Amino acid sequence: MSKLGIYIHVPFCLQKCNYCDFCSFAGRGGELISEYVSALCRDIGRAAQLCGGYSVDTVYFGGGTPTLLTVRDFERILCALTENFSIESGCEVSSECNPATADLQYLRELRSLGVDRLSIGLQSANENELRALGRIHSYADFVETYGNARAAGFENISADLMYGIPEQTVESFSHTLDSLTSLAPEHISAYGLKVEEGTPFGRMKEGLILPDEDAEYDMYMLCTEYLAARGYGKYEISNFARAGYESRHNIKYWRGEEYLGFGVSAHSYFGGERFANSRDIDRYIRGLDITEERRVISPAERMTEYVMLRMRMSEGVAHSDFYERFGRGFQSVYGERLAKYTDMGYVVTENCRTRFSDKGFFISNYILSDILDF
Ligand code: SF4
Repeated sequence: MSKLGIYIHVPFCLQKCNYCDFCSFAGRGGELISEYVSALCRDIGRAAQLCGGYSVDTVYFGGGTPTLLTVRDFERILCALTENFSIESGCEVSSECNPATADLQYLRELRSLGVDRLSIGLQSANENELRALGRIHSYADFVETYGNARAAGFENISADLMYGIPEQTVESFSHTLDSLTSLAPEHISAYGLKVEEGTPFGRMKEGLILPDEDAEYDMYMLCTEYLAARGYGKYEISNFARAGYESRHNIKYWRGEEYLGFGVSAHSYFGGERFANSRDIDRYIRGLDITEERRVISPAERMTEYVMLRMRMSEGVAHSDFYERFGRGFQSVYGERLAKYTDMGYVVTENCRTRFSDKGFFISNYILSDILDF
């Protein structure tokens, strides 16, 4: 049987953070959430008809804030999945969670439904930075939610951090790393802030004072080195884990494996096509098609995507795998274009594998846009 990942988008938040352009509706809940869950279950039933011959080995609830669903909502979605798909025993079931949105009882019930991995949004351990980001919680809230998750039986916990945020310094970021690692989560994600159009930060433009590029680079390198020294390997540009705790679901994205996304703004890669839903929640609830993009991936695009995604990972591109898939040598296609970056120490080729060095990761978007044909 072929393997399939499933992503469920939960587009509800208590309040919109200042940097966020994810599809999430703040302050809308109650009946709307219940209707949305019904629409998800209907959508799952429809899609499953195309998925004979697949077994599901990862499920991921992202958002938004999935922990604004009731336990009963989670149960309805998980039942729809088990009724319609072949779910493997040992399937990784992750949910994102915001501090202060899930108490001990709630987390116990989630765990007993089979959710076995929790990804908690911390972003910073410094109160001034949390306020600047517009987060609804304090660091103490995070510590409480984390403790409740452990008490509820979660043995696989991830936390999200951000660097390059207002008021942050290398020292304050170091304090965040100290605070978080003292709790010993299994997995840590660390993202650089991107200022997106249409967000409060995007509207502030020059009024927004951020750490400069040198400071951001220092934070990125500090993060990599600090976490490596404490047993967290960087397996992807923004993701660090203790051995064996890498996110199996997210690895599917970077390895170009198949997944189906359900809900508004969810993306899918299935049957050689990429498709994405719009943000139109009202149409979705009414059961109408909200697919807004559907593309068959051509062989040339597949090769570009493959390099772009694999190079996000520390393992990089194995030349033998590249040859098996595309019938061409990696070096013969990209060797010349990568040569100057290899000379500068941004790209490393050894043991028939090409990958970014730590400093190369920091400017990987620039290098990839230079070498790939988009
Ligand atoms: S909690 Fe997450 S999804 Fe919700 S507004 Fe903040 S960053 Fe966006």
